[in-house]
Amino acid sequence: MSNHPFQPLDSGLVPRFAGPSTFMRLPMARPEEVDIALVGIPFDGGATNRTGARHGPREIRNQSSLVRRVHHVTGLSPFDRIRAGDCGDAPINPLDLMASLESIEAFYAEIRAAGARPLTAGGDHLTTLPILRALAKQAPVGLVQFDAHSDTYDSFFGSRYNHGTPFRRAIEEGLVDPRRMIQIGIRGAISDAANYDFARTAGVRIVFIEEFMARGVADVMAEARAIIGDKPTYLSFDIDALDPSFAPGTGTPEIGGMSSREAQAMIRLMGGAHLIGADLVEVSPPLDPSGLTALTGATLMFELLCVMAGG
Ligand code: MN
Ligand code: MN
Repeated sequence: MSNHPFQPLDSGLVPRFAGPSTFMRLPMARPEEVDIALVGIPFDGGATNRTGARHGPREIRNQSSLVRRVHHVTGLSPFDRIRAGDCGDAPINPLDLMASLESIEAFYAEIRAAGARPLTAGGDHLTTLPILRALAKQAPVGLVQFDAHSDTYDSFFGSRYNHGTPFRRAIEEGLVDPRRMIQIGIRGAISDAANYDFARTAGVRIVFIEEFMARGVADVMAEARAIIGDKPTYLSFDIDALDPSFAPGTGTPEIGGMSSREAQAMIRLMGGAHLIGADLVEVSPPLDPSGLTALTGATLMFELLCVMAGG
């Protein structure tokens, strides 16, 4: 498999700061050419607080030039095991949220029809909803969500479609099986004590950060694996699951979060799961001029790629 052309630019020949800015320095590709489609969704029309996640894909591409070929723990290169390419950005209209949901869904339906699995850089967390609409129409999937927030509210400002509601809509629309869904890292004051009632009643397993700290990475991930089983599952990683000291560039930060190391370790423990796709959302580069948050996002996408590639 390593003879295929979908290899990162050789950084011994072209320095990391040179050349086109694609995900992990991979070639641009059409979905039918690859096993894993790296995609950006430059949309933050669902953000209820600070915006800027529309700039996430471009800056994550830039910072992903630091991603190297071989995972240092497994000794394996995902680029030898599968074909991965940069399939560009989903089409969006920054002034029309509902039209954007439709155009994003259509783009991912093409990826699915081509037989590729998407690995996405958001965008705000609403962008996960049209992805799930494209991937999970036939049967509900399992979901592992890393996040400070449950994102199962009913509406904000009279709108049912924003980055606080995607997983409520996904459950209502039959895209996600709530009994095969786990949220990890949830925390922060809420506006009403009943805010978690929908998720709890539906059967979603909510692991608050306090429980995570008490039990640790391995124990929580063993439970996550038991909940999703070996059936099709989607993984959604909101960068605000991390403590803002690790990832300050995000629209709705919550202190008291997990570390970058814990996030890496948890993603690695997804190895062997039946992942139909994954995303990394809510990186807002204008809120972190240092680039750290985008670098963290890009590096977690590499961890996700390694898991999706099977090592
Ligand atoms: Mn979220
Ligand atoms: Mn969040």
